[in-house]
Amino acid sequence: MEFSLAQAALKKYYGYDAFRPLQTDIIKAVYARRDVVVLMPTGGGKSICFQIPAVTLEGTTVVVSPLIALMKDQVEGLSANGIPAAFINSSLSAAQVANTETALLAGAIKILYVSPEKLVSSGFQPLLKRINVSLFAVDEAHCISSWGHDFRPEYTQLCFLKDQFPKVPVIALTATADKLTRKDIVEQLRLDNPEIFIASFDRPNISLTVRPAQRRFEQIIEFIKERPGQSGIIYCLSRKSCETLSQKLNEKGFKAGYYHAELSSAERSKVQENFINDRVPIICATIAFGMGIDKSNVRFVIHYNLPRNLEGYYQEVGRAGRDGLPSDALLFFSYADLSAYRDMIEGDENTPREQKDLKIAKLERMFQFAEAQVCRRKTVLNYFGEPYEKNCGNCDVCLNPPKQFDGTVAVQKALSAIIRSGEKIGMQMLVDVLRGSQRREIFEQGLNQIKTYGAGREYSYDDWINLISQMLHLGLVEIAYDDHHKLRSTEAGRSVVYEGKKVALALPQPRLSKEEKAAAAATLRQPSQKAQLQEALYERLIILRRNLSQSEGVPPYIIFSDATLREMSETRPITDADFARVSGMSERKLQRYGDAFMKVIREFVKEKIGEGMRVTGSTYLISWDMFNSGKGVAEIAAERGLSPVTIYGHLATMYERGENLDIKQWVKPEEVDMIQGALPLFEEPYAISAIMEHFNQRYRYEQVRFAIAALKRNKTS
Ligand code: ADP
Ligand code: ZN
Repeated sequence: MEFSLAQAALKKYYGYDAFRPLQTDIIKAVYARRDVVVLMPTGGGKSICFQIPAVTLEGTTVVVSPLIALMKDQVEGLSANGIPAAFINSSLSAAQVANTETALLAGAIKILYVSPEKLVSSGFQPLLKRINVSLFAVDEAHCISSWGHDFRPEYTQLCFLKDQFPKVPVIALTATADKLTRKDIVEQLRLDNPEIFIASFDRPNISLTVRPAQRRFEQIIEFIKERPGQSGIIYCLSRKSCETLSQKLNEKGFKAGYYHAELSSAERSKVQENFINDRVPIICATIAFGMGIDKSNVRFVIHYNLPRNLEGYYQEVGRAGRDGLPSDALLFFSYADLSAYRDMIEGDENTPREQKDLKIAKLERMFQFAEAQVCRRKTVLNYFGEPYEKNCGNCDVCLNPPKQFDGTVAVQKALSAIIRSGEKIGMQMLVDVLRGSQRREIFEQGLNQIKTYGAGREYSYDDWINLISQMLHLGLVEIAYDDHHKLRSTEAGRSVVYEGKKVALALPQPRLSKEEKAAAAATLRQPSQKAQLQEALYERLIILRRNLSQSEGVPPYIIFSDATLREMSETRPITDADFARVSGMSERKLQRYGDAFMKVIREFVKEKIGEGMRVTGSTYLISWDMFNSGKGVAEIAAERGLSPVTIYGHLATMYERGENLDIKQWVKPEEVDMIQGALPLFEEPYAISAIMEHFNQRYRYEQVRFAIAALKRNKTS
């Protein structure tokens, strides 16, 4: 298979100019009929790795996916780009399945999504034998591994693919990177000497931030206030907290929904639909949410509770910013969550010891990540075995590097309080003792008698929590998880208390006061006129997209991604040729939506000129509109106070850019041929007067100009 066909298909069906680095190699391997394993993070561009082979190879590509909601979405997305696709799963009626089967047998479907249950069922096998399968794609391939977090028993039967269809290549794809999973995929699918591709798991457009969980509701409110109308997911541990959080958000005037396993499947799909269609921007959800969602413009992911492991954290974070635009991940962490999870793991009687230990070890790594004052991205990527040397510059630690101070005295105060209280208090009580709280329990337990009572008033409650967390991290204290989470000093801790060993701690992050915040905001530069124009146009394009999405019953991002709209609002394409150049513009979408979007852009441009703004490119448009309203060139020139030569230039430019114009009224086809024949003698940009001279003034200015325009127009179309 010629690779140039892949390139052409990428432009035609997806509107992209180039493959991402690994995509090229992967597609080449598939063309060479190799089995392939692809490990790529969410948003990395896995789909194209099997969809491009699917549309270019003869026959049908069968995609196994466990996620029914995702299938519908994917098929919609493919259809919107003009690729014949269908899915078969338990959500379809018998009649619908029969229709799809007929289309399949007629060879009318390039990509078929099936659930694993359906694929392995005996009823499906005869059909599979009768169609020409070009490729099997096993999506979410980590589901095959019982080590993974999404184990699906049906997946283990997929080995029949290689047994029954030894000649058809298999491409297995996943966003889970670990070695064990990879090995399981290769073995269980019985892949034949597969080529394995591992992409970088870095998602540089997602900024990573971790904060202590104190007052997290207020923090969340502040956070979403700064992001009006944007889509985001807030992951919570329990169903209850999903519900309460979404209710509280609504009370504060933010549109939020909730999603958890306890809802009926009808309710769940309604929530999903509302989210996907930008009707409800914020969803408070348990981890069940997001798996089946391909929404590309999720702008933020918040972890209300600590995730159970870094795999889960990173996968959830990865649901933000698939469109490559800047997005945020915000994680709240607390000891309370850590202990709650630990208790849950320990208390689960069905889990063998070995698995429990594994889970606890992963949980601890998660917590360490949250606590460490090291570049977040460096920590996660290193955890996934991807070397990452530099500091990323897009995480809270990089943006606000911790300042160290001599924390010896603070540590001594805390440890001495722990020791003097007989090592029988937990973290909150310790802080209360240090800050001299008047709580009843303190007096009941006689803790007001110890020497360090009230000795730590110089730090706020939150700061103390922060400092003690660091002490934990440094191994100066430990938590007796088996004994009501009491704090105990360690050997290392005692050496600070008794031997005065020095400890450096990171300064607790100062909180900005209201005035400081206002001052910081004021110093930010006012957006330029250019940025304002872009923003204003972007908003109109969003509205148009929403209207189209409603009338067509497809999610907005299926029409165009945010990134595509952003590019439109920057480049303001107003002709077909301009429009086709926008990234993400497939032929189908240009045909289907081009006019509607260009109309809005043109109106916008004209309106802004009317308001006295200078808008690049607008002058052509004005002349063009006047010409189309029946005015002659001389008339336009007079009205606009410009020379006719300039007006001809405007018309020629519009013609060059793909607009229809009958240039025969100025220059005959044979004259065009003559002039174009001489053009190779000149260099671009063409000096029209020189060309006129070359022909001894036989042709007029506009004749030469239009002949050049005709040449350029043919080059780009
Ligand atoms: P994954 O399945 O790995 O999560 P997707 O296949 O959904 O990722 O791709 C993520 C986003 O990147 C999509 O919006 C997709 O259209 C876009 N994309 C993929 N490949 C390219 C490419 N070569 N050029 C531009 N955008 C791309
Ligand atoms: Zn960083």
